[in-house]
Amino acid sequence: MARYIESACRLCRRENLKLYLKGERCYSDKCAFERRSYPPGQHGQGRVKFSNYGVQLREKQKVKRMYGLVEKQFRNFFVKADRMKGITGINLLLLLERRLDNLVYRLGFANSRSEARQMVRHSHFLVQGKKVNIPSYLVKVGQVIELREKSRKIAKIGESLEGVARRGIPSWLELEKEQFRGRLVSLPSREDLTMPIKEQLIVELYSK
Ligand code: SF4
Repeated sequence: MARYIESACRLCRRENLKLYLKGERCYSDKCAFERRSYPPGQHGQGRVKFSNYGVQLREKQKVKRMYGLVEKQFRNFFVKADRMKGITGINLLLLLERRLDNLVYRLGFANSRSEARQMVRHSHFLVQGKKVNIPSYLVKVGQVIELREKSRKIAKIGESLEGVARRGIPSWLELEKEQFRGRLVSLPSREDLTMPIKEQLIVELYSK
């Protein structure tokens, strides 16, 4: 699967938003966005006026990059959301939130979604007691995500869990830190998802 291998910080600067792609660094004064909050490149500080299409495209790129997906993966999620009952844009966000790598990150086992993805791929987690190493696995309400016994001594995971207080655990999740497990208690409402996302623009872009 293709993946983006250039500087993650450039993506934040391009989208004019902190996407929190680099873990602890994002909370420090080393954050590139805090230092240079304008788009990268020679004309980054020039004035840019986006067309309607440009605005929609930037919104899609922002969400895609936030969750660390490539175009094909993101598009597949959109197709799935579009086939579901309800509002497509909200369906899309809920599907993205249910991804196993996202929940591992949200629960604080990893400092970033990319770190969480790698940990899932390395089979560090069980879902309902079964090994799952697919980052895009969609966790269902009530399912328990648990760090495997043999992985509990990994220092990096312990450090992430210690730092979880700063990020906070979303209200739709439950973490039992001492037991190294968490649960998707319910699906978040749109109001719970506080990232500045205008999902309707993504729907408009893909509906052209
Ligand atoms: Fe974005 Fe984090 Fe880099 Fe800051 S440190 S620019 S939030 S990836």
